[in-house]
Amino acid sequence: FAHRRANLRELLEHSRKWGERDYLVTEDRRISFTEHAAAAGALATALAGRYGVGKGDRVGILAANGPDWVIAFWAAQCLGAIPVGYNAWWAPPEIAYGLGHTTPAVVVADAKRAALLAETGTDLPVLTMEEDLPALIAAFGGGEIPSTPVGEDDPAVILYTSGTSGRPKGVVHSQRNMVAISDYHRFTDAMLAAFTGQEPGDGPSERRYLVTAPLFHIASLHNLVIPRLLTGAAAVFPHGAFEVGRVLSLVEREKVTNWAAVPTMASRLLEHDVAQHDLSSLSALSLNSAPTSPALLASLREKIPALQFSLTTSYGLTESGTAATVATPLDLAADDASVGRPIIGVAVQIRDAEGNPVAEGEEGEICIRSPYVMLGYWNDDAATAASIDDQRWLRSGDFGTMVDGRLTVSGRRTDLILRGGENVYPTEIENVLVEHPAVRDCAVFGVAHPDLGQEVAAIVVAEPGAVDEEELRAFVADRLAYFKVPARWRITSEALARNATGKVTRRELAV
Ligand code: ATP
Repeated sequence: FAHRRANLRELLEHSRKWGERDYLVTEDRRISFTEHAAAAGALATALAGRYGVGKGDRVGILAANGPDWVIAFWAAQCLGAIPVGYNAWWAPPEIAYGLGHTTPAVVVADAKRAALLAETGTDLPVLTMEEDLPALIAAFGGGEIPSTPVGEDDPAVILYTSGTSGRPKGVVHSQRNMVAISDYHRFTDAMLAAFTGQEPGDGPSERRYLVTAPLFHIASLHNLVIPRLLTGAAAVFPHGAFEVGRVLSLVEREKVTNWAAVPTMASRLLEHDVAQHDLSSLSALSLNSAPTSPALLASLREKIPALQFSLTTSYGLTESGTAATVATPLDLAADDASVGRPIIGVAVQIRDAEGNPVAEGEEGEICIRSPYVMLGYWNDDAATAASIDDQRWLRSGDFGTMVDGRLTVSGRRTDLILRGGENVYPTEIENVLVEHPAVRDCAVFGVAHPDLGQEVAAIVVAEPGAVDEEELRAFVADRLAYFKVPARWRITSEALARNATGKVTRRELAV
């Protein structure tokens, strides 16, 4: 990567060369690189001057997606402060936990979350995006953009994991991690440009990236929004909750080229009349953050033939900084269930319970080493030591196999169902269930059993009367070993609650 920079503040400086080009676009706002840098600089001056924010202080951000989230992030970078992306769907007790955990000096919030912050009883300064930010940016603008020296190993951002397996963990990425991740995405941007006939070079990228996943997860912030400062391309934000018709209209209007979606969003495309939109600009749709079933991939290809050659999947975790592996259309053609090959800079090793590498094709824990892997967990040396070893290998907590250089994820250690002597992974059974035409969604999980320890249970979402337990049982029994056939069932027309990364919290399920 020829253009390596030492820290994120240098990326912000670099972005000024893109001038009046779009950086942040919403349904009703358009902010250029020049405007963005000026706003971030003004807010930084205000945070330092009025609130005493300095190097190493945390700046909490609690808001739905939008340009102000991004401006607050970059303002913190100007001061060497550490932005903390709090989960915008948290309820007041969870917010209180987050504030106690990362102790920010100020919190920047949208009006809705400012009200939730008030409910926590916090006495921290809360700056609203609707009123305080514009006023501060107007009052403190016009001067130099502050710059505080930071080291490559200094923390650059804290993001929380989804909390699928317990309390969300505060993942710290260093300046070095973040610059490496941006360099990687600059490289993929140039590659995509070359594939679509553009000349890659030092000029701005003509690609436009749709941001539908929340900014407080790495899939959006690290992969889509931050690297655009290097490439001069736009990040496009739909408003509000995910609504497929509105999102596709925005894709059409803004000529979006890249969309990284969680699988649940992609499955909504199947229920929509996509033919009424011109999606010809969309040349890359990547599905990430949760397992994508081969059935979903097949339906997407069938319904939207233009996506044949642009569908990819990826696997990663907050701790890995960006994707650890990507499955290209070629990888998926060879094996639809795999999550592809390690990306540039990443080494993946499958290890047994003793930490030794296993033979090709054998199952074990997926371990990852790369310049993108987190520094560690905020204020939790014990958890950091348990997940990163002396050689900087990250233990993912996921099981998988590697065959012909391609990784297949079996599932997370905490989701594994131990039925008698057999290990059962929910994803394998879910992938079969969603092949049934009446099944709209499903979740498989373990429930206690007196003899077996656990048995397999399933919740299936279907129209009332569309399918019964006997039919589903037979459907699975025809395709999988007897011990994988759920013994307990619940069929419901109610949608399953999924978190922002498209995952069901299995420990909260019951039949
Ligand atoms: P917590 O660590 O708090 O339990 P979480 O693991 O859900 O939450 P994330 O970092 O958002 O937090 O998610 C990472 C996990 O998502 C991975 O460890 C893996 O289990 C799952 N995952 C991500 N991408 C894929 C994929 N393509 N296929 C299967 N699983 C995936």
